[in-house]
Parts: sequence; structure tokens; C-alpha cells
Amino acid sequence: MVSEAAQLPEQMPSPFSLLHPAPSVLAPRVGKFVIPGRKIIQTPHYVAITSRGTIPHLAPDVIREHTSIGSLYLGLEDFLEKAPQATPPILNIPQAPHESRLRKFIAARDDDILVLGTRRTPPVVTPQSNLANGVAVLTSVGFHHLEAPYWLDSLKKLRPDIVIGMSDICYGYPPGVKRREKMVDRTHAYTRDATNQIYHETDPTNSEHRPLYFAPILPLENTQQGLYLDDLVGELRPNISGLALYDAASLDIIPEKLGDLPRLCFSEPATPQQVLREIALGADILTIPFIGNLSNAGIALDFSFLPNEADDEASSSTPKPLAVDFWDPSHAISLAPLKEGCECYACQNHHRAYVCHLLSVKEMLAWTLLQIHNYHVMDLFFTNVRRSIANGTFEADSMAFERRYESSFPEQTGQGPRLRGYSSYVSKREEPKRNAPAYGRLNDALEKYAESQSSVATPDTDAEGLEEKGMGEKSGI
Ligand SMILES: [Zn+2]
Repeated sequence: MVSEAAQLPEQMPSPFSLLHPAPSVLAPRVGKFVIPGRKIIQTPHYVAITSRGTIPHLAPDVIREHTSIGSLYLGLEDFLEKAPQATPPILNIPQAPHESRLRKFIAARDDDILVLGTRRTPPVVTPQSNLANGVAVLTSVGFHHLEAPYWLDSLKKLRPDIVIGMSDICYGYPPGVKRREKMVDRTHAYTRDATNQIYHETDPTNSEHRPLYFAPILPLENTQQGLYLDDLVGELRPNISGLALYDAASLDIIPEKLGDLPRLCFSEPATPQQVLREIALGADILTIPFIGNLSNAGIALDFSFLPNEADDEASSSTPKPLAVDFWDPSHAISLAPLKEGCECYACQNHHRAYVCHLLSVKEMLAWTLLQIHNYHVMDLFFTNVRRSIANGTFEADSMAFERRYESSFPEQTGQGPRLRGYSSYVSKREEPKRNAPAYGRLNDALEKYAESQSSVATPDTDAEGLEEKGMGEKSGI
């Protein structure tokens, strides 16, 4: 089906078309997102989350050979370093007229869809608030403000495929009435200025590389952002190619006239059941932090949206766990694959005991294999979701899924990889440090030893002490 947007002469051809259009805004739908020269995204689907330009634990060749990942979400804050005092390397690397600095810098494939926003997802809560002309961000060397002109200039230099518009969202605390008004006014201004600059650009070298603009919808009531939404439907509509949402409830307030736009959700669903609920409300593309978080925790996904034959045979009345914890020593001698019947590289080539062993010796390959498997399970999940919506059985299949599985993932029992960079930041002063001190036990043992062996010289013993304990004689020189 050709969407309504594509029929309007003043608008760009829409990259998004609904194959199985929903009868209303709040209903599951199947679509296709097409950018020339890039992989096609069949929706509903996920966009893979990156950290500093890469999907954690997956090198570009592993992504290419062992996953089906075709779209990446990147936060500009990951690359800023000491900007604006010093130009970050990503904005400085040479770029041929047909190239994208962003694509080159992160070694992404030519057909990967690159989605760029200001902040990582999920973002670290910053101690500073957003300002009138920019948002507070966390760079690799500390917190600072990313101002709107710098952001727009970076977009021109980086040439992503899709831009998630700058928005004034308060993370870490609920905004008051006055603050909410500011959020709307600022986001409205950012969207107007950015679309003006991007789409009325006179520089011919950049006009061919105009990114698609996804306008943010704030996590507020529609009455609080009514003027902004009206402007999105009216004046701004020709330059908007999609919507970015930060809360599943926002799916409820999308104006019907924006119903044909793809909806990308940054709502951080905690379980596949929540993913299904968002799809039921019409979410098209989702970011899913639990995929990477579970891999880090040593946990492998173990669910399928549609039941397979083995499930029917078992026909157990107790719900099954959604995932398997590989820190559990019961897997130490198991030669079974991570998930029965799984066709991913990890399950085809290795067994549970190997992953269990890799985790216990903190070998990085453990997390790589878990990531390959977990992304594969999510790929199949979304393929079956799309099939189910197209068949008209999505509601019944979702209910059966909820009955078949437990409502939450198993608790993490083992350690993940040592936390570094963004993952190690704590958002509040009173929060404990994320990493336990690596040498704590060694120091502790040494102190105890020194106490019990007071006659033994310790590293703190001075020259007199050493002489006293017969370790040597002080030289007269
Ligand atoms: Zn697998």
C-alpha cells in the first residue's frame, strides 16, 4: 500500500509503507521501511543499540557473518570527547563526496541503516539539567552541554540515514508544570530549526545526503504538547519521516494524521511481553536494552513467539522461564545447545558446558556467543510477530505467549564483564560504585598477615624497622 504521505506533491516520497495496515492508530501493524541502498527493515522490528560505535562484544565481521542485524542506533555523545574545545576525531576524518564520516568511523557496512540521536540509549542521568539551547550529555571525558547549532553542524558532517531530533527530556526526575512547558517549547524549536536547516539547505554537496528526520514526541500528555503536535501535523509534516517516542503511553497520543509515519520507541521494555504490548499499540521499531544486558549477565534467551512442536508435547501447565542463566553450575557438563533447536552460530558450534566454562574464567568469547544467540532469538521473535499480525492472530498468539512463559527474566546470579565507561557511571551520589575493588581481597589479606606477623617487615616498614628485623643494615653514606 502506498501511504497517504507519498501522494502529497510537496512531501518527499515516504520510505515507510504499511503492508498490513491497522484499522486504527492503536493497533499492531506490519510495514516496510525502505531507504535506497540500505537493508530493508520489515516492521515491527528492533534497531540494535551501540555503545561508542559498536554493538558490545560483537566485532563488525562477527555482525556480518553471524547475525542479521541491519540497523544501528548511535548517540552522538559517545563520540564527542572534549568538544567543542577540541574537534573530536569523528568530525575530522577525511570524507569523499559519497561517503558518511559516521559510517566510515564505526566501520559499518554500506547497507546498514545508521540512526543517530543526541544521547545513548538508555542514557546516563546527568547531574546538570538541559539548557535553553542544548541538552546535557555524558562524553567519554565527562558531562557537558551539546548545543543545538553544534548538533546540526555534526549532522551535516556525519550524514546518518535517520536523525532522532533533539528533545528536552528530563531524565531521573519527574518534571514539574513549568519544566514541562519548557520541554515542549524547546523541543518544538529544535524540531522547527533542524528541519528548516536540513531540508532547506542550499549546499548541493549535502542535499543528496539529507537524513530522514524522526520528530520526538515527549513523554507527556497530549494536552501539554498540543501546539507542538498541531505543528507536526501541519507546517512541519512535509519534513518529518517518522516519530521517536520515549514512553509506550505516547503511542496513545499520536494524532491520526501522523498515523502513517513509522514509530521508533525508546521506551526500554523489560520483557518480551512488554515488547508485545507496545507492538499491540502500534510500535514499529523498538530499542531493546535487555538483549545486551542479559548477555552481559550470562543469560541466554529461551523463548519463541509461536510454540514449536516440543512445546506442544510438553503441554506443561507451569510457565516456562524466558531465559537460561549460564552461571548455574548445573550446565557445567551439559552438551546441549544454548536453546534446543536454535540455528544460531553459538548453538550450532558450541554447547552449554563450554559457555558455562567461558563465563567462569571470564573469557570474552562467552559474551560474544551469548550476544549472537540472543540477537538470533529476537530476530525469530520479530519474524513470527510479523507473521502473526499478517495472519490476524496476533492477539491470541500474544495471550498464549503470556500464558506459556514466566513474566520476568531470571535474576542475574554471576558477574558480568567488568563495567567500564558509561556502564560504570552512577547517577546519584548515594549510589554505591558499580565495580567492587578488584584488589580488595589481596590488600585485606596482606593487612591481616601484617597484623598477625608483627615481627615481619611490611611494605610500610622504614629503614630502622628493616634493620631491627634483621633485613639489612643502614648504610653510613
Ligand atoms: Zn542459539
